Amino acid sequence: MHDKARGKDAAAAASFDGRDDHPLGGNAPARKKGSRMGLDWGLNSLFATSDGRLLGRKMLHRLKELDKILMDYTAELHKKGIKLKTDKKYQSLQRRISEYAKNEVGRLLNILADEDILEFVVEKLDFRFGGLSKRLNRILTRAGRAAVTIKLNRLKETHGINTTEVNSAYTSQECSNPKCGYVDKKNRRQSQFHCKCCGMKLQADVNAARSIKERRSFLITTRQAKSVRDNIYDLLGDRHRKQCPSGRHTTVETVGATAAIISAVNQEPSHV
Ligand SMILES: [Zn+2]
Repeated sequence: MHDKARGKDAAAAASFDGRDDHPLGGNAPARKKGSRMGLDWGLNSLFATSDGRLLGRKMLHRLKELDKILMDYTAELHKKGIKLKTDKKYQSLQRRISEYAKNEVGRLLNILADEDILEFVVEKLDFRFGGLSKRLNRILTRAGRAAVTIKLNRLKETHGINTTEVNSAYTSQECSNPKCGYVDKKNRRQSQFHCKCCGMKLQADVNAARSIKERRSFLITTRQAKSVRDNIYDLLGDRHRKQCPSGRHTTVETVGATAAIISAVNQEPSHV
């Protein structure tokens, strides 16, 4: 295969979200060894990793400072009747926040990329930090989502690290103990996860990151499972009933309903 064709293939393979508008920065061969890492976009940190780290916690402190500046200035403009879109200082403030988010995303993902990682497993990107204004969270969602998508695509090209996006339905309620997997709203209380079936306790975002990583083995991609949130619930319930550690959730039988989904999702996604 000549270089041009290989470049095109690399771009297609790197576009885990279906986009292909990112410039190529390298052509690293796909890694063959290493571990899978689940990433959860937390409310108190930028990423929780499935190996138990909360990365980007200091970011929240800086974002709160920027939020205060943004809110004060927005109020000032409203008072004067000046539209935000026409104000240069407001625009540059917005850019500063976006740049900050982008730099932090790049810095943190670079740290992970230098480790022995075969593949990132991520949920649908949704950036929202707790305790910040809606306006700032909107800027972060837009800037953060774009930055992570671009960065993950780039890491495929420069480091050969693949990314798989999975449907994250119920990952915040699901016990990540592979021998349990019990799903219950009551399992999570703010930043603490405490499984009502097997009793496992874990930081809630780390538990979610582990569940995301485990979901990779189901190969439920967002594209395949967009409209099957209820079916995912059945699937998770079915898996739990087969192995329920407490013996309290073994009665309901929905095997027939979920068998079709298992076979539907157990196919390798084409572009990840
Ligand atoms: Zn459990």
